Amino acid sequence: MRTAIFPGSFDPFTAGHLDVLDSALKLFDKVIVAVGYNSTKTTSGFFPVDIRIKIIKDAVKHYKDRVDVCCYKELTIDLCHRLGVNFIVRGLRTTTDFEFEGVIAQANRVMDPDVVTVYVQASHEYSFISSTVVRDLLVHNGDATPFMPKGVNLKKYLKAKKELGK
Ligand code: ADP
Repeated sequence: MRTAIFPGSFDPFTAGHLDVLDSALKLFDKVIVAVGYNSTKTTSGFFPVDIRIKIIKDAVKHYKDRVDVCCYKELTIDLCHRLGVNFIVRGLRTTTDFEFEGVIAQANRVMDPDVVTVYVQASHEYSFISSTVVRDLLVHNGDATPFMPKGVNLKKYLKAKKELGK
């Protein structure tokens, strides 16, 4: 069985991420969406990691056991070793993504040449979506629904975030 991990901050998981996952499932039997929270970008995230995971689980329900969701603190390459996975999936929207992703992929390749990074090009209709845009909308009481996967009730998660005092 071919398994890949799809690592990211997913703060929150968007329709763009779901589009990448959808393509990845055409290449792999199983994909593990892995929420990383040790990088500087994610130390003070918008949604706490447990809420990010709940949002992803809502979004990927229909894939049943073809998608798992987990979180991790270690290096992505160490997560690959821990899970026994040799493929990393990442999404590309723009040339900026391409350059950024290239640096990470090269570093991972030096650390373990057997772990291959696979890029998935964003579909045209999702290529402008980012977690940053979604967060900006939420902070300013905008409607982020068009940028989110169907079936994710953001209001519920915003309430949960508030109750945690975050
Ligand atoms: P990170 O903080 O690790 O970059 P993100 O959650 O921002 O994590 O993104 C995870 C991956 O998904 C990255 O490879 C990013 O380029 C990709 N991605 C994000 N949004 C989109 C989108 N709309 N279309 C395609 N890929 C995307």
